[in-house]
Amino acid sequence: METRQHLGNLELLISVGKAISEKLDLESILQKLTDITTRLTGAEMGAFFYNMIDDKGESNLLFTLSGAQWESFEKFGVTLNTTVFQKTFSGEGILRSDNTLAVPVTSPAGEVIGGLFFAHSQPGMFTEEHEKLLTGIASQAAVAIDNAKLYEEVKTLNTRKDEFIGVAGHELKTPVTTIKGYLQLLEEQTPEGLTKDFIERALRQVNKLNRLITDLLDVTRIHAGKLDYTKSRCSLIDLVKECIQTVCQINTSHVIESKLPDNDLIVMVDSTKIEQVLINFLINAFKYSPGQNRIFVQVIREPGRAVVSVRDSGIGIPKQHLINIFHRYYRVNHSQYVIAGLGMGLYISKEIIDRHDGSMWVESEEGKGSTFYFALPLFT
Ligand code: ADP
Repeated sequence: METRQHLGNLELLISVGKAISEKLDLESILQKLTDITTRLTGAEMGAFFYNMIDDKGESNLLFTLSGAQWESFEKFGVTLNTTVFQKTFSGEGILRSDNTLAVPVTSPAGEVIGGLFFAHSQPGMFTEEHEKLLTGIASQAAVAIDNAKLYEEVKTLNTRKDEFIGVAGHELKTPVTTIKGYLQLLEEQTPEGLTKDFIERALRQVNKLNRLITDLLDVTRIHAGKLDYTKSRCSLIDLVKECIQTVCQINTSHVIESKLPDNDLIVMVDSTKIEQVLINFLINAFKYSPGQNRIFVQVIREPGRAVVSVRDSGIGIPKQHLINIFHRYYRVNHSQYVIAGLGMGLYISKEIIDRHDGSMWVESEEGKGSTFYFALPLFT
């Protein structure tokens, strides 16, 4: 009987350890901790009280319960104003009475993060053995709670950062759009010559700035699940030709060769967004193939889908980075080259292609070049 009890306790201990180490979400850690420790002590009810500093910097006492409402503890003399409660929160160690057991949970830095409270209507149910068990669990839990708090803080900061980028992006977008409009007007009215050349250079830089701002806004929209798509039938071949044309205006250092099928391929897409993907592939092919002058674009038809690829003979990507380059803000440190960028383009591209039920992949060899692919379902 005793052996079975020990085994049961051991299983519970293992599950508490697992729950604590696997989860980063504070509420579920604490609920699990309260449930398991209540079962371990054989208590009729258990509670974990903890102090949480909210967004406004105010301290709030929160709790998770197991087996009963907090009011039920009152009949055992444990309320928010009792000495048991106060003493536990001031870290005076474990307090055991006939019907209650209170264990402070102290962070590695010595701060009392919270307290575990247990009650049983039968006196003498809590033992020294329980105290020992709970001391171990409480110190494990404290570390997990500390981590979970840090994780919550990082999440909050991350959301604030995204909000800031979103607002800043909008603020930047308006003047840049206005400047671009005036420059386009000027360019149209200016005869060929040095002035026109300067205006065109300025326009290229403004377009670059515009693309950067769009990327910044897209990243925040993707994160918030708010990037909208307007899909319609469209010719993939026309779209590819247009992108090549656009990119050739931006960059004259490379020649783009293309191999396109004779028959048109129809896809159901948000054409502006698919253009964004292909333009990103093309600009990357320029950027990451310094000293080279050829880029090769191919479109092929496969059963049910069309595959678009962009090949360069540039610096390539080391194998170990290949799985990461579609992640947000991920950039490879190409040691011999300093190439500017923010690591947003491929992340956005992957998201766009995923949202079209397509797929995206890359083949690359360091020092030899890269081929980026995306495939889209054909519209029939
Ligand atoms: P960015 O170019 O602004 O850094 P991307 O998300 O477009 O952002 O690309 C992520 C990373 O993938 C780049 O920093 C670069 O290291 C690598 N990369 C992308 N395209 C190529 C390419 N054609 N050749 C070599 N490396 C590339």
